[in-house]
Amino acid sequence: MSETLFSKIINRDIPADIVYEDEQCLAFRDIAPQAPMHILLIPKKPIPKVADSEPTDQMLLGHLLLKAGEIATAEGYGDAFRLIVNNGEKAGQTVFHLHMHILGGRELTWPPG
Ligand code: AMP
Repeated sequence: MSETLFSKIINRDIPADIVYEDEQCLAFRDIAPQAPMHILLIPKKPIPKVADSEPTDQMLLGHLLLKAGEIATAEGYGDAFRLIVNNGEKAGQTVFHLHMHILGGRELTWPPG
């Protein structure tokens, strides 16, 4: 897989406002926030999109979900937040390194656009 913006953030080649990191994942604030809390949570493993993940990624994908909840709670939005994973261009994905948007701090309507 070719290097993406997010692998450059993992490698500290470009700066980001990092809010959480462990050996498997990294979380940083979105540069164009769509809510008072808008954090991107990414695996360090460069999986392009969620549909490209494999059975061996099961633990990693579960880890991301667990950490998303912990991060939202640590940010003070544990009672109401939304997780979004865009998969593919037509679904709005622009960076092809799997990432979860963690949004909170405003009313989030349904259905999403
Ligand atoms: P998506 O459209 O689901 O692929 O989401 C990509 C997200 O990355 C968008 O919400 C962008 O605002 C965000 N983004 C792009 N460049 C950066 C950056 N340098 N630092 C933080 N977030 C970024």
